[in-house]
Amino acid sequence: MPLPIAHGLMGASVVAAFQSHGSLKRDWKFLLLGAFLGILPDFDFALSWLRVGGKTWHHHFTHSILFAFLAGLIAAAVINRFSFRNVMAYSLATLSHTVMDFLFTESRGVELLWPVSGKLFKFGLQPPFPYDWRPHPLSAKITDILELCLFELVVFTAILLMILWIKGRAHRMRRDQQKF
Ligand SMILES: [Zn+2]
Repeated sequence: MPLPIAHGLMGASVVAAFQSHGSLKRDWKFLLLGAFLGILPDFDFALSWLRVGGKTWHHHFTHSILFAFLAGLIAAAVINRFSFRNVMAYSLATLSHTVMDFLFTESRGVELLWPVSGKLFKFGLQPPFPYDWRPHPLSAKITDILELCLFELVVFTAILLMILWIKGRAHRMRRDQQKF
């Protein structure tokens, strides 16, 4: 199961792919919002922790396609950048979390189709790299957690930087073409 590091960097990467000029200086606020949205679905831990409704909430409605769309809609409205492109960017940043959990989770799955169906879906992908995360973090060894944090930081930062580089290059090329 991916940690918040991977989810946050993936959310930022999705936003970068949609609307970045490849400039961290210019786009950092939007990338930060993307990172927040990438982590947002796991705030369902708080509902379980607060014992809301006396049931387990993790991997349920906050890990659905509809929740991702609503989160994107609200995010675009809150920052006053309401356009189809921005709603898509922020919705997909949130959905990236659900997709990653769907692919890698070791739990029973995620409630993708809430509220239409309460069925839990999982792909159960076993990646060819050391990416095993126990469903009970408190029972994991600290060195294993640190190793996983480092792994996620390296891999997902590389993805974000690669997208920023590609977008920056495309932006500069467009700008240069307009000069002629
Ligand atoms: Zn999650």
